[in-house]
Amino acid sequence: MQYQKKEINLNEILLAMKNATEEGISLVKKAHDFAKEVHKDQKRFSGEPYFNHLIATAYNLAQLGMGGTTIAAGFLHDCMEDVDVKAETIEREFGKEILFLVEGVTKLGKIRYKGAERYNESLRKLFIATSKDIRVLIIKLADRLHNISTLQYVRPEKQVRIATETLQIYAPIAYRLGIRKLSRLLEDLSFPFVYPEESKKIKHLLKEKRKETEHSLEKFQRSLHKALAENKYSNAKIDHRVKSLYSLWLKLNKKDGDIEKIYDITALRIIVPTISDCYQVLGIIHGVWRPLPGRIKDYIAFPKPNGYQSLHTTIFTGDGTIVEIQIKTDEMYKDSEYGIASHITYKEGKLNVHGIKNSFEWIKYLLPKKTNGGEEKSSGRTPQWINELVEYQNHTSDNEDYAEDLKGDFLKERIFVFTPKGDVVDLPTDSTPIDFAYNIHSDIGDKAVGAKINGKYTTLSTKLKNGDIVEITTRSNEKPNLKWLDFTKTAIAQRHIRNYYNLPPRKKRKNND
Ligand code: MN
Repeated sequence: MQYQKKEINLNEILLAMKNATEEGISLVKKAHDFAKEVHKDQKRFSGEPYFNHLIATAYNLAQLGMGGTTIAAGFLHDCMEDVDVKAETIEREFGKEILFLVEGVTKLGKIRYKGAERYNESLRKLFIATSKDIRVLIIKLADRLHNISTLQYVRPEKQVRIATETLQIYAPIAYRLGIRKLSRLLEDLSFPFVYPEESKKIKHLLKEKRKETEHSLEKFQRSLHKALAENKYSNAKIDHRVKSLYSLWLKLNKKDGDIEKIYDITALRIIVPTISDCYQVLGIIHGVWRPLPGRIKDYIAFPKPNGYQSLHTTIFTGDGTIVEIQIKTDEMYKDSEYGIASHITYKEGKLNVHGIKNSFEWIKYLLPKKTNGGEEKSSGRTPQWINELVEYQNHTSDNEDYAEDLKGDFLKERIFVFTPKGDVVDLPTDSTPIDFAYNIHSDIGDKAVGAKINGKYTTLSTKLKNGDIVEITTRSNEKPNLKWLDFTKTAIAQRHIRNYYNLPPRKKRKNND
């Protein structure tokens, strides 16, 4: 994954495309030329051509293993919003699927982070519901990666907003989709803008620690290689990953700021072909070096709730240093770094998420996976709405039905609006300010006299649209109006109004909220 490289050219993108088809390559070439032409007069804040942003986004997508269609959409993702290319033009030149992706990314771009941490889960939900197709979300992540890596050219107030949004919304989504490589980059690039002092401190701390351990780590890596080679594992790949600054900071906060208590700042990774090799290698290591008690973890037999698999051990190297070692197969490695992105394959140009039968099932990816025992290990941190989606799926026997229902009920027929403070409220399509008011509190509904949508006064029967900011005016002596029953969509609003006048509940009404 690249993010600071200055010049990327088309050829590098084509080279990065794995299993590229003729069709995919020509699509990417065409999108490249098209984007270069339509954005030719546009500049970035840095003064460089706008096109640099598009080629960087496309390159990020190629590195994530995406196919021609998604990479082409990456080239085109800003052309509707920024240079006013018409939907018809995109459809004519690139087809329906690419238009769908570009429109999805454009829509997603309109959702803004509005502050307050307690609303973040709703905002992540909104992102996911708006995306509909996993590729839309991945394009948006690739787009954000380039934006955050060029954030120094943006106005300071905007820097903080974009970096906070990245840290609170985008990075956790990338993490939940298992694309750790991306979530780490997003975190480390936003961290200094959101927490300048803390990030400086951590950077310094890490540098000191590295100076201290670098030499002995290199020495250890050589002896490790030797020990493995003596046991017929001369082909094992050994590398190391350094903990991201942001996650180090989070962990330090949990360990009273004592860096000596954190053993996985640098972890050595050993990659071998099979699972049985993993256990063999663990045996070899423990035969030579003494492991730290209580730190041997078998995440192969017992995967983490997010599906992560690996063997972990922490050993004394013999010269006073302690080092964490992770042993995994190539497949486990790819899965842990690229997550869902590594499962998207393209057969005959068609999207096919491995083991996923329809284009909506990727939502399941947001769930904790079943462990080998068949029992679901809950981290206790799975958000309620994700559980609801799965519940929903469990009640529908047929996958086709599930996709249809999800498209209908959860995704298409819902809209998401904001309170002035940034809280997200989701409602059925065609809901009005009255539905919104009762959704916040029955008292606000009962006493509503007027509404502002996006700062402008409007009637209480106005249909709300995705992304509207809604404000309700109340008066203390007011009561609900029976006419409201004609234009409220939610059962909660209907119920409160009827209750107020002691009307019996309407029997056959479909429960909409
Ligand atoms: Mn963009």
